[in-house]
Amino acid sequence: MSEDFYDVLGVSRDADEDEINKAFRKKAAKYHPDVSDEPDAEEKFKEAKKAKEVLSDEQKRSAYDQMGHDRFEQAEKRGGFDGGGAGGFGGAGAGGFGGAGGAGGGLGDIFEQFFGGGSGGGRRQGADLQTRLTVTLEEVYEGVEKQMTINRPEECPSCDGAGGTNPETCPECNGQGQVTQVQQTPFGRMQQTQACPNCRGDGQVYEETCGECRGEGQVTREATLSVGIPEGIRDGQTLRMEREGAPGERGGPKGDLLIEIRVEDHPDFERDGDDLKFRKAISFPQAVFGDTVEVPTMEGTVEMDVPSGTQSGERFRLERKGMPRLRRRGRGDLYVSIQVVTPEELNAEQREALEAFAEAGGEEIEVEQGFFEKIKSSL
Ligand SMILES: [Zn+2]
Ligand SMILES: [Zn+2]
Repeated sequence: MSEDFYDVLGVSRDADEDEINKAFRKKAAKYHPDVSDEPDAEEKFKEAKKAKEVLSDEQKRSAYDQMGHDRFEQAEKRGGFDGGGAGGFGGAGAGGFGGAGGAGGGLGDIFEQFFGGGSGGGRRQGADLQTRLTVTLEEVYEGVEKQMTINRPEECPSCDGAGGTNPETCPECNGQGQVTQVQQTPFGRMQQTQACPNCRGDGQVYEETCGECRGEGQVTREATLSVGIPEGIRDGQTLRMEREGAPGERGGPKGDLLIEIRVEDHPDFERDGDDLKFRKAISFPQAVFGDTVEVPTMEGTVEMDVPSGTQSGERFRLERKGMPRLRRRGRGDLYVSIQVVTPEELNAEQREALEAFAEAGGEEIEVEQGFFEKIKSSL
């Protein structure tokens, strides 16, 4: 089992490209097979090279961070396998299979590169399915298992996905599943092989079409899944559940289920990446004299010191009180911006005190004309 790529290079999870290149050069100097005497130099060098390759490619790195080491490696293996076999088996790639092929932008596309369309030895992999799941900020903060119910195609239980009973060899293609057409064109004779339209590439037709699935081999069923919401996932990111998609044809492997995560807005906090923002209202005297105020966090209320002379709009940072970082160590911060509230209504005593305050500062204010009205209209 190979190691986490960050550990291989000995860099932190937020290392930039420079640090990664530097770390790789160091490893290369130590383990390059041409220069190294270490017993497992070649292996170590290969590992470092691989780690550098992934971590310095923005898309791959993002996928790696999302999937974690093991799933990433599996995914890549599958991607590589598909690539190798594609040449010999034309037409069975993702393009040939209709339905939810594209993953709908964003991270899905990155995953798509690794997972490919998949043609496991002629048995077509089922289509990837897409769905959405809405979670709360609290759920993202904690990382929970969430139950979700979806309607999805499943292998028809009546005909075991065959689509009919009493199979016969397709007369159109003699069971080959494909037909060759020869066309005369201005450039000469063109030969084109395609899936047999009569049996849709199965090589078999059925005397009797299955009534339950009307020959499709698939029926739509309700399924309840338990989805692991990783801590720190962001709105719009996609989770991939392997083999939870549509069934494959003729017993081929199932496709995957792509779940786009929607994170609900929170009444208190605004999320900015892994940081959270909160707006705290304080009074004018609090701003002048300073005070200890209560501020909510994802883990309950904390006390925060507001220094004397704080201005409206000033920001304070509560370190590591933000969201957990997705598949990385550490947390974001909580930024508290102060809003000094101007009183809209004053009692007689307050009014007098404030007039005295203004006077003491040498300010001349025509209070009768509506001092507070003026402030409001200038906002
Ligand atoms: Zn046929
Ligand atoms: Zn059926």
